[in-house]
Amino acid sequence: MEFHCIQDCSQCCIEREYYPEKKFGKIGVLILPEEKEKIQNIAKEKNLEILILPRIGVSEEKNSESIKILAFQMMGVEKNGNTCPFLDTNSGKKSPHGGYPCSIYENRPLACQTYPLIESDPITLDQKCKFCKEHNSADENLNSEIESLLKIKTQMKTSDPFVWRYATGIGEEADTSEIKTGWILEK
Ligand code: SF4
Ligand code: SF4
Repeated sequence: MEFHCIQDCSQCCIEREYYPEKKFGKIGVLILPEEKEKIQNIAKEKNLEILILPRIGVSEEKNSESIKILAFQMMGVEKNGNTCPFLDTNSGKKSPHGGYPCSIYENRPLACQTYPLIESDPITLDQKCKFCKEHNSADENLNSEIESLLKIKTQMKTSDPFVWRYATGIGEEADTSEIKTGWILEK
């Protein structure tokens, strides 16, 4: 089946999840180190305040002082971490499938170009995507997403033994006491 966005949907630019679990807080849009400056400059040009936090780091030693950041994340503008700062919810414009448009579509991060693909071999789609909920799977019209995913995977290769994940400290008000902030060692 061919992948296509569901009419009027903007869910993946709005809803943010706790990942891999609540204590890590809500995640943002993955930003590779080489994308960070470009995204910050675009935000400046648009007079938008954005918050970019670390996401994944690696280290040779088991201490957080020596972490090398492999990926950052751009947080949502709402207090609970939802809604990408570049989602145009105000102008009344629509995306080709009728959702809110991305105001940096041509320059959107690789992670956005990849979504809803989370694995290319075999093709696996994020089950939270509205299309996937309705159709379960797709195996056509995903070539550019596959290419973007492979680029991200190449950039994130590492031989360092310790992998760290940054807890964002951001989430629903009711969950505040469970959510941590800062680097947590994964392995
Ligand atoms: S990728 Fe999925 S969640 Fe995102 S707009 Fe398209 S259908 Fe909706
Ligand atoms: S950068 Fe654009 S495509 Fe990516 S989450 Fe934000 S609004 Fe959506």
